[in-house]
Amino acid sequence: EVDWFSLASILFLLMFAPLIVYYFIMSCDQYQCSLTDPLLDLLTGKKHLSDIWNRTPMVTYKAAAIYSLWVTFQVFLYLSIPDFCHKFLPGYVGGVQEGAVTPAGVVNKYEINGLQAWIITHVLWFANAYCFHFFSPTIIFDNWIPLLWCANILGYAVSTFAMIKGYFFPTNAKDCKFTGNFFYDYMMGIEFNPRIGKWFDFKLFFNGRPGIVAWTLINLSFAAKQQELYGEVTNSMILVNVLQGIYVLDYFWNEAWYLKTIDICHDHFGWYLGWGDCVWLPYLYTLQGLYLVYHPVQLRTDYAMGVLMLGLLGYYIFRTTNHQKDLFRRTNGNCRIWGKKPEYIECSYMSVDGTKYYSKLMTSGFWGWARHFNYTGDLMGSLAYCLACGFEHVLPYFYIIYMTILLTHRCIRDEHRCSSKYGKDWKCYTAVVPYRLLPGVF
Ligand code: NDP
Repeated sequence: EVDWFSLASILFLLMFAPLIVYYFIMSCDQYQCSLTDPLLDLLTGKKHLSDIWNRTPMVTYKAAAIYSLWVTFQVFLYLSIPDFCHKFLPGYVGGVQEGAVTPAGVVNKYEINGLQAWIITHVLWFANAYCFHFFSPTIIFDNWIPLLWCANILGYAVSTFAMIKGYFFPTNAKDCKFTGNFFYDYMMGIEFNPRIGKWFDFKLFFNGRPGIVAWTLINLSFAAKQQELYGEVTNSMILVNVLQGIYVLDYFWNEAWYLKTIDICHDHFGWYLGWGDCVWLPYLYTLQGLYLVYHPVQLRTDYAMGVLMLGLLGYYIFRTTNHQKDLFRRTNGNCRIWGKKPEYIECSYMSVDGTKYYSKLMTSGFWGWARHFNYTGDLMGSLAYCLACGFEHVLPYFYIIYMTILLTHRCIRDEHRCSSKYGKDWKCYTAVVPYRLLPGVF
C-alpha cells in the first residue's frame, strides 16, 4: 500500500527533481553560482522565465555524439571485457560474483569489472590529454548543459523501458512488485533485478557506470577548465578531486561488496535509480568542482589541511565501519574486530513462505557506537568536499544538505524494515546500541 506521504513525496520529486538540477546548473552558467539572484530577478520582474530559458544552451549534435559514444563505450567495457584486475591486484574481489538472495530466492551472478572499466577509461583520458589531443580535457565542462539534456533523455528512457519491461517481459516475474499506483511503480520500480540477456544488469550498470565512472572525469574536466581560465589549478580544486577520487575508487574497489548494499539488495529499479544515476548523481555530486571553475578559491594551507583531515577521517570511518560489518557477516561472527571477538545479538526472522532464518546483529566495533556509523563517516567526507569551497555561496553546500536528508531518510527506512524483519530482536539490539548516527545525540 502506498500512503499519502510517500505518494506526495514521489509526485514532488517527479515534478521538481529535474527542475532542481536545471536550476543549480543554470545558476552557475548564468549567475556565477548564486542561487538567490535568479529568484530575485524573477520576483522583481527584471527577468522572465523565458529570458533565462532563452539563454540556456540546448542539446547539440556534438553533445549527443559525445554522450552516445560515452554510454556505448561503458556498455562495451561492462559487457565485453571480463575482469582481469582480480588476477593481479591482491585483495581485490572481481570477476564473476554472486549477489544476495532475492525475496523470490534467486541468486544472480554479476561480472564485477568496474575497477577495470574505471582504469581503462582514465588511462585513455590521460593519454588523450597528454599525448593524442583528440579532444580538449575541458570537453565535459564546455558541453555541460547540452550533455544534461542527453543524460535526461537516457534517464527517462531507461526508467520508462524498465517499467514497460516489468509489465510485459520481466526477467524474474516473482521478484516484481506492483502496488497498483502508477506513479509509485514508475518511481520506485517494478522489477527487482531487470536484465537484458544473461549479464546486462540494469542496477549494477546504471548504479556505477555511466555516472560514477564519469564523476572523476567530470572533476578532471573542471580542473582543466580552471587551468585554461586562470593559468592554475587551485588547492581547493585539487582537494575536491582527491577526496572525491578516493570515494569513487573505493566504490569500484568494493563493487562486489556493493552487491550487498540496500540499493542492490532491497530497492527495485525505477526512476529513482534510473534517472537518479544518469542525471542527479553526475550533475549534483559534482557541484563543488563546477563551483570552483566560477570561483577559484585558494585556501590557506592550514585550512586546506584541516579539510583534508576531515575528509580522510570521514573516509576511514565510512570504510572501516562497512568493512567491519562485511567481515562479521562473511565469517558469521568468527573474526576479530579491533583485536577482540565481536559481540552480537542473535536474531531470527520469517520469510514470506514461513521458513525461519537466523542472523546476527553486531554490537561491537563502530557498530557498537551507533547503528549507522558508516553514514556518519560518509557525512563527514561529504562535509569536507563542501568546506573545500569556502563560504561565499551556499551552492556547494547543497551536497551535505542532500546527503544528510538522504542518509537520515535511508536510516529510518532501513530501521523500519529491520524492525519488521527482526521484531523483538531488533528492540533488544536498539536497547544495546541506542543511537543511530551520533552517539549521545541522535
Ligand atoms: P548498510 O551497509 O548500513 O546496511 C544496512 C543493513 O545492514 C541492514 O538492512 C541490515 O541488513 C544490516 N545490519 C544493520 N545493522 C547491523 C549490525 N549491527 N550488524 C550486522 N548487520 C547489520 O546500509 P547501505 O547499504 O545503505 O549503505 C552502504 C554504504 O553506502 C554506506 O556507507 C553509505 O554511507 C553508502 N551510501 C552512499 C550513497 C551515496 O549516494 N553517496 C547512497 C547510499 C549509500 P540485514 O537485513 O541483512 O540484517
